[in-house]
Amino acid sequence: MTLKIVSHQVGPLSSNSYIVYDEGTREAVVIDAGDDAWLLLETLQERKLKVDAIYATHGHFDHVMAVDDLKQALKIPFYIHRLDLEILSMAREMTRRFLGIDVGDPPSPDGYIEDGQTIQVGGEVLKVIHTPGHSPGSVCFYGDGVLFSGDLLFMGSVGRTDAPGGSAEQLTQSILEKVFKLPDDVKVYPGHGPETTIGWEKKHNPFVGEEGLLRRRR
Ligand SMILES: [Zn+2]
Ligand SMILES: [Zn+2]
Repeated sequence: MTLKIVSHQVGPLSSNSYIVYDEGTREAVVIDAGDDAWLLLETLQERKLKVDAIYATHGHFDHVMAVDDLKQALKIPFYIHRLDLEILSMAREMTRRFLGIDVGDPPSPDGYIEDGQTIQVGGEVLKVIHTPGHSPGSVCFYGDGVLFSGDLLFMGSVGRTDAPGGSAEQLTQSILEKVFKLPDDVKVYPGHGPETTIGWEKKHNPFVGEEGLLRRRR
């Protein structure tokens, strides 16, 4: 594996923010700039990385709050799936209503990512997989034996589907028909909580694993 991954836990919901880079070329991307831009900037500087862009797995506020600060500091573009634009635009209002905090205006994307698209990270490639369910425009990034799963799949759990645009049926379908088709030894880096693997979740996940609740409902 050539890609290096640095994980930071950021913000009030302890979201995982990932800096992914090619060790040789020092080229990097940020996946989910959730909060605490200073921390991400410090790591980028310490490791002498050159960031190409910021990508979001989806548009919930806890995955995009540091985007504007990073964009300003590094002059780099921000990309998200088009189907999460509405959710992104509601981020401030939703956060105020449900968490009682004002997170300011959400960032505006500079472009959109689509299913099947590839993202170059130095000499490696990450592929965009559209995996709706937690939100309509949720995506995963897959390549070099790793999957960034956003809030679709967590260790021993799955993303909630009760927020606007969520669908339990779509989420189950995205996991079973897209993510679980990947090799068992693929390492999963979720939007919250610890890392896991495809093989472990296929077997033991209480929602979508072999004996899973959501799977039995189908
Ligand atoms: Zn979310
Ligand atoms: Zn989240």
